[in-house]
Amino acid sequence: MKRLALLLALLVTTGAALAADVRVGPQGPGFYRLRMGADEVTALLDGTHPFLADELLTHIDRTKVDSLLKADYLASPVQGSINAFLVKTPDRLVLIDTGAGPLYAGDGGFLPTALLAAGYRPEDVTDVLLTHLHRDHVGGLIRNGTMLFPNAIVHINKADADFWLNAANESKVPKILLPMFSGAMDSLAPYQKAGHVVTFAGETDVLPGFHAIPAPGHTPGHTWYLITSGHEHLLAWGDTVHVATVQLADPNASIRYDYDEEQAAVSRKRALEDAVAKGYWIAAAHVSFPGLGHIRRTGAGYQWVPVNYTRTP
Ligand SMILES: [Zn+2]
Repeated sequence: MKRLALLLALLVTTGAALAADVRVGPQGPGFYRLRMGADEVTALLDGTHPFLADELLTHIDRTKVDSLLKADYLASPVQGSINAFLVKTPDRLVLIDTGAGPLYAGDGGFLPTALLAAGYRPEDVTDVLLTHLHRDHVGGLIRNGTMLFPNAIVHINKADADFWLNAANESKVPKILLPMFSGAMDSLAPYQKAGHVVTFAGETDVLPGFHAIPAPGHTPGHTWYLITSGHEHLLAWGDTVHVATVQLADPNASIRYDYDEEQAAVSRKRALEDAVAKGYWIAAAHVSFPGLGHIRRTGAGYQWVPVNYTRTP
């Protein structure tokens, strides 16, 4: 009888210990380096943010969204990465997009810590290339209202500058996109005041080795940057894909953040075809960190092939 009581007591204590939650801490600063030709590409994680895949994806059946997510052991909302990419060439330090900074509350704003952890200071950045002017790409430009990258020239497609820096266009977008205007204006203002913003139009070399390719749809001036070093190419495709599990399986699926959903799908399919045909490295803003990988064709759709982790690139 005494032995049974002891056994019961033991079971109760073990059960209580199992029921208590272990405190799971956060990750360390997110940076990941890749050698590409003569360049070093460093993915920088600004944060992760819940993407309401089932509510926001369009041109696709909601049950298909759920089943594709389930097959990847995911469910909506999916934690989406907010990635930016730092490219060190022999003579420049170029940042592609800047993350959300303070504009996504506690979900973003970790890029400066990741940058320092990777061994760089904000003042080392010579150029910022923006794929478009949405809040989670421009927000990281400023800290406390001043330039975080005081020595950088910010390069923007003129079509995006004309659209998002003009409040008269607010009537042309759905409610979900309204905060993008103030986000773009506030984040760029100190750079405009300092004369640090330049715009470009059409397909052009923004810097040696950095080729801008207009890919409209997600925004009017959404732009890819094809970076070439030696025989290698990396396509920084911005917001071509938001939820990779779904949109690679079905590239017709767009998202309510796309200004023109049909045109965004056309650009998306062009990027995927080019990536497969030419074997480009892809640098993706919202594919799971580090957002570096390749694209493989599979049946009617595509698959993401993540970079193979290398400790000493
Ligand atoms: Zn966007």
